[in-house]
Amino acid sequence: MINIPKGTKDVLPGEVYRWHHVENVAREVAEAYAFREIRTPVFEHTELFSRGVGDTTDIVNKEMYTFLDKGNRSVTLRPEGTAGVARAFIGNGLSGGAMPFKAYYLISAFRYERPQAGRLREFHQFGAELYGAAGPYADAEIISLADRFLRNLGLKKVRLQINSIGCKSCRAEYNRALKEYFSPRLGEMCEDCNARFEKNPMRMIDCKNENCKKITEGAPRMLDYLCSDCAAHFDAVKSLLKEADIPFEINPSIVRGLDYYSRTVFEFASEAAGAQGTVLGGGRYDSLLEQMGEKPVPAVGFAAGIERLLMVMEAEQAQIKAPCGVDFYFAGMDGASRDRAFMLAEKLRGEGASCEVDLMDRSLKAQFKYADKIGARFVVVIGESELKEGAAEVKEMKTSSSARVKFDELAQYYEKRRNQDV
Ligand code: ATP
Ligand code: MG
Repeated sequence: MINIPKGTKDVLPGEVYRWHHVENVAREVAEAYAFREIRTPVFEHTELFSRGVGDTTDIVNKEMYTFLDKGNRSVTLRPEGTAGVARAFIGNGLSGGAMPFKAYYLISAFRYERPQAGRLREFHQFGAELYGAAGPYADAEIISLADRFLRNLGLKKVRLQINSIGCKSCRAEYNRALKEYFSPRLGEMCEDCNARFEKNPMRMIDCKNENCKKITEGAPRMLDYLCSDCAAHFDAVKSLLKEADIPFEINPSIVRGLDYYSRTVFEFASEAAGAQGTVLGGGRYDSLLEQMGEKPVPAVGFAAGIERLLMVMEAEQAQIKAPCGVDFYFAGMDGASRDRAFMLAEKLRGEGASCEVDLMDRSLKAQFKYADKIGARFVVVIGESELKEGAAEVKEMKTSSSARVKFDELAQYYEKRRNQDV
């Protein structure tokens, strides 16, 4: 058999309810903040990401799935969701429509990374984007949405860390200070940091290399260089979070891996998971559209990794209720009763009940065993005498109690019992 590609995973029928749960909570919470879903293509022109995400980022430099299509166009499987939404926002003329524009997405994303726990080559994200609002309320609303999403998933050990990385003008001064600090130490730093030094020194702050990390500890902090507007914005965001009872810590070393961020940046990470504990990251990206050659529109957003969320939920033992599964299993004993079972199942399916009939020609005993295995709530037994009587023997598996139910009253029986807890 051909193997599954490295860094990808199947989600099997027996576990998909966990995904549905996370997706349902995501939709519910996003809709509560009046965000609507947006769906964009899985692949885009490569240029969208090299310009939008930024060509000093790891994502663009090392991780993109890029190929030439048959028409010799360079296309890339989306490594994240923000650039595609930005393209859709402009391309569909939404930037000229009602503001704010609020959208959320549930997508697969692709990055050529070294696979490990919580790091895949195809992974999934829930993200939200808010365009048109420059003020601190928008930042607070996005962070609140993210926080509520994680809390509604039952996560208790996830902590919010925030920082401000300023705007173009205050960052220019900060970059000068960084260059001054790093310049005599460059010889001891990694190759990537040497490249970042030229292009985007702030990116050196979140280098994962142990030696670089040590050197970075004594580096100047962006927070000390914020201009008065950026400082006021950050203060306002912090006080809104306090008012909303959303606990946070300030972490000056969060700069985020993407070039388009400005001012507020944030991450939610779990103490219950190791190195891949960051489940959600986001921030303000007022310069993204400008970077893409468009008129700037202020924006703020986040993205959460679904595989990592599921991992952290398991580590925190956040419960997800498994669905009850099959409502009725129809057990027929001979040809005529099997025919009747098939027809009755068809009818109940029309009423919305989940029904299974024996497709394997099993004995009655084996049918009961199977019904038990799939967690069927009721087994409907039909044999010669039931056919004659026009009524089935309905056995509730958990309680072992039985009832005689007329064939044409099965739908009513289902209606009556469907919302009763077992
Ligand atoms: P990391 O620092 O862990 O590489 P990142 O900064 O590259 O994360 P983002 O681009 O901010 O990640 O993506 C948002 C979220 O998507 C992350 O917080 C994480 O939960 C998830 N994510 C990112 N890359 C992967 C991956 N390769 N596999 C699984 N989940 C991922
Ligand atoms: Mg990464």
